[in-house]
Amino acid sequence: MLKKTFKRGIHPLHRQGSGKNATKNLPIENYVSDSVVIHMSMNIGAPAVPCVKKGDHVKIGQVIGTAGGFVSVPVHASIAGEVTAVEPIPYLGTGNVTAVTIKNDFSDEWVELHPLGSVENVDPSLVIPAIREAGITGMGGASFPTHVKLTFKEGAVCDTIIVNGAECETHLTADHRLMLENSVRIVDGLRAVMRALIVPKGIIAIEDNKPDAIAAMQKAAAGRIGVQVAVLKTKYPQGGEKQLIEAVSGRQVPSGGLPIDVGVVVLNVGTCAAIADAVIDGMPLVSRVCTVTGCVKEPKNLRIPVGTIVEDMIGACGGFSEDPGKIFFGGAMTGIAIPNIQTPTAKSTNGVVVFNEAESRSKDESPCIRCGKCVAACPIGLNPYQIKVAADASDFAAAEKLHVMDCMLCGSCAYMCPARRWLTPSFRFAKDKIVAERKAAAAKGGSDK
Ligand code: SF4
Ligand code: SF4
Repeated sequence: MLKKTFKRGIHPLHRQGSGKNATKNLPIENYVSDSVVIHMSMNIGAPAVPCVKKGDHVKIGQVIGTAGGFVSVPVHASIAGEVTAVEPIPYLGTGNVTAVTIKNDFSDEWVELHPLGSVENVDPSLVIPAIREAGITGMGGASFPTHVKLTFKEGAVCDTIIVNGAECETHLTADHRLMLENSVRIVDGLRAVMRALIVPKGIIAIEDNKPDAIAAMQKAAAGRIGVQVAVLKTKYPQGGEKQLIEAVSGRQVPSGGLPIDVGVVVLNVGTCAAIADAVIDGMPLVSRVCTVTGCVKEPKNLRIPVGTIVEDMIGACGGFSEDPGKIFFGGAMTGIAIPNIQTPTAKSTNGVVVFNEAESRSKDESPCIRCGKCVAACPIGLNPYQIKVAADASDFAAAEKLHVMDCMLCGSCAYMCPARRWLTPSFRFAKDKIVAERKAAAAKGGSDK
């Protein structure tokens, strides 16, 4: 079979099975804690606005935050119980976000749900509104409101939906397990969107290190109109949107462009399952599968209510197996270090990965030896060592000319660098500065009018 792929890329932690061996064969376990902390900034765009107060009793699925605009989604209670706080909390270096704390009464009482029925018979015009009302955002880590992604600008045509089952990040197996255990739901979600947008082709793309998931999805896709499975070579970052589109369709998203510019939309497998839940059962997005692994006694794939605290999840995995160093949301390549174990999970939290102290220690960078390994690794053909020079000199105009804004912060270049240059942090810094400068310029232009 011809396996699809993109140019360049790397094979992180290849010999250790990319850190996935600890959990890839473990079925998903349900876990519910005594309380959750659900913050209102779970999506890219405007935060939700809390609509409950301390002392209220809420049921599972009840709206506790209304959408703050078009690029926003409502937030729902993930457990039943009493609201014990509505207050700002610090969150992942983004400043304070408003959060609703709910104490579980373990009644498991749900709000009344309004199912739309089978995805093959539902009125297609009802699907996108149902996705919005269910509060669905990209569950592969991006957090972009899904109804916005599926609302195209005038004249745009989508002929292919790609379902991202690559899960190329190290350590994570949540999507892998979902494909094994909820394969029909994933196809149902894909079909609902294909019918809503009149898209003829849906392709579920999976790396070849998951042969069991490929077989499960092929079985689930059999006989479903327009749905097929594509097998990808195992390579990082195969699950990056642009890399996936290039691998599956041969199309290249232009610099600064979007997948829809080449007629494609990419949805994560978890997002598709959530869409099926919303259509078939009328169920909002209140839980997700999350891999908990690294230095914990019993690594697991847990289905958790949104807002579950990391400390509770570590406890559900038997506690730390050795002194923790850093804890990440996500895998080793693109994960974000969390400040403490009281941090609550969000709709996009696909992994909690615990590194020990030795693994967490930063290594000093040394001078560039011009080996070019970073250039050979970059999946979008950038010149990382030159961008690094420009970024470190705060020459953001030069960094922009070198296309730093196309950098997806995948970390492939830094992984390969023998001089341990801190490439990705420099690129993130430059991108943030350029975005801030653009915003300031736009505001100045507006005030001059
Ligand atoms: S972090 Fe940016 S520059 Fe480095 S490999 Fe990834 S896309 Fe290329
Ligand atoms: S991989 Fe590191 S040492 Fe080699 S050229 Fe790139 S930045 Fe320099």
